[in-house]
Amino acid sequence: MPSASHCVIGVDIGGTKTAAGLVDAAGTVHAADSRPTPAAAGSAAILATAVGLVESLLAHARTLGLRPAAVGIGSAGVIDARDGSVVSATDSLTGWAGTPLAAHLSRHTGLPAYAVNDVHAHNLGEHWQGASAGAESSLLVAVGTGVGGSLILAGAPHLGSRAVAGHVGHLASPYAYDDGGRPLPCSCGRAGHLEAIASGPSIANLYRRLAGTGDAVSGREVAVRAAAGEPLALQALTLGAQAAGQAVGGLANVLDPDRVVIGGGVSAAGELWWTPFLAAVRSELMDPLAGLPVLPAVLGSNAAVAGAAKLALDRIDVPEETRV
Ligand SMILES: [Zn+2]
Repeated sequence: MPSASHCVIGVDIGGTKTAAGLVDAAGTVHAADSRPTPAAAGSAAILATAVGLVESLLAHARTLGLRPAAVGIGSAGVIDARDGSVVSATDSLTGWAGTPLAAHLSRHTGLPAYAVNDVHAHNLGEHWQGASAGAESSLLVAVGTGVGGSLILAGAPHLGSRAVAGHVGHLASPYAYDDGGRPLPCSCGRAGHLEAIASGPSIANLYRRLAGTGDAVSGREVAVRAAAGEPLALQALTLGAQAAGQAVGGLANVLDPDRVVIGGGVSAAGELWWTPFLAAVRSELMDPLAGLPVLPAVLGSNAAVAGAAKLALDRIDVPEETRV
């Protein structure tokens, strides 16, 4: 049975940072640490960073008299949660596809280890302690460097038959076309997808096209320029927000979740993004969904560590013979 002394280590492996926390069954974080992800150095280096963080937290746990029972991992990429391996990944983590992530962490720490995609981990965290706590079902959409999603049903993320469920960024979007009517290229190798217009880098690309500039402007800088009143920056941010809102509204019509939670760095741009985003969601929703709560994520960058910990806590609480 879970108790406050029942604790695990949650790990979040992202393209820039690997974070970890020593978390108990009540959600209390007893220690936390993070290191830069050696994203371009390949799978072995990324794994070594994660193992190093876990080992450091295990040593810390011993000084606190705590004995972590498992490791939960949220990672960028398509993760097969059945064996915790990386099915595929974008260029943000070089050589990550094919990595036996959970098995490696388990072998090097001596603890059972479980892994899911980081957006599912984010959703698990918000559903455990954040904006969707207590919700029967929750759709989380993260709009940041990419556009990801996760649906929690009956307390667990819907993973899909091939571990791909939740890839909201790869929905077709009528906004993802250039002035000549050509679909914008997407990170998945296809074109005309939501991520190609709504992600931070895509908003920056759109701004560069609108402004006719080759400046290396980030999505964050576009948001700053929009806030300063620059019309083309505002136009790019607004189009990205509208595209995301239309997709979220359409998904809500399909899924009818109890709550919708929005996270990611782009959504942190504030009212200039949220106002057109929510207007686009509302204009898309069918009438019975008029009261659907669409809320900002509240746990910030800690959500995926919390969710990865919850994944592990949930797995170790089921009888061993029924574990997957
Ligand atoms: Zn795509």
